[in-house]
Amino acid sequence: MTAPAKDGTVAKAPDLPVSPSVQSRACPICDRADSDRLEAYSRNHWSVEQCPGCGHVYLKNPPGYSALEQDFAWQKTYASEHERRLQENPVAYRLDVATRFRHTWFRRTTAQKYRDWFGSGKILDIGCANSKDWFEGFTPYGIEISKELAEEADQLMRAKGGYCIFGPGASAIWQFPEAMFDGIVMSSYLEHEEQPLKVLLGAARALKPDGAIYVRVPNYGSINRRLVGRNWCGFRWPDHVNYFTVADLRTIAAKAGLRVRLLTPVRLPFDDNINALLTHDTMVPT
Ligand SMILES: [Zn+2]
Repeated sequence: MTAPAKDGTVAKAPDLPVSPSVQSRACPICDRADSDRLEAYSRNHWSVEQCPGCGHVYLKNPPGYSALEQDFAWQKTYASEHERRLQENPVAYRLDVATRFRHTWFRRTTAQKYRDWFGSGKILDIGCANSKDWFEGFTPYGIEISKELAEEADQLMRAKGGYCIFGPGASAIWQFPEAMFDGIVMSSYLEHEEQPLKVLLGAARALKPDGAIYVRVPNYGSINRRLVGRNWCGFRWPDHVNYFTVADLRTIAAKAGLRVRLLTPVRLPFDDNINALLTHDTMVPT
């Protein structure tokens, strides 16, 4: 950790049964231990399995946080993933790259979206990388598992009044004071997190009563995943350790006292990602 919380006590994270050091885990949503291997979606020794209880699909044997901090930090795996996708599915992948204007469009309007969702105030980005973006009206805070990127982000955030904590989200989130944030961003993060429930519980605690959490994860329930199978863009071994459907997201959010509002409900079946706002369950959705 490079930046201990300055103005609050460190909370004790709940003692959930998943340990980052074990190489085989129970269902991250319902904690059922047994699961069925999905051969078509597994790759080499990375075993993608389905929970017979709640139906969630997840990587049974994630590499562990220390590996993520070093070997699997995603800025390093990006290059090899690019190469793999190009080789396995050149047409679809080139088309995907060619239509990246979607992301440019998103970046251009992110400031406005943040204002709509969070108003203003303190904003926490979990899995913030090196945090090049900053949005007017917000004090930026971050959590980042790559040491190198966390140090860069910490420097940038301190210049704007916030700071970045280095470490896994499931433990780092508990180092922020209770009800601190107006907004929490989990963009392309929760699918990497070995202990998503622990993160959501910590986020619910760190969120103001009227705050909101933005979540973007690959949409395992998409029609595209059913059509292209293991070539679906949401599969990444071993970086992605949870494959959420909307039902999965609602179930795990409810366990953390949060409710889910989908941001793109109409196009969702055709969308490779779920975009949603999570609020405290006592709040009336807008
Ligand atoms: Zn389950």
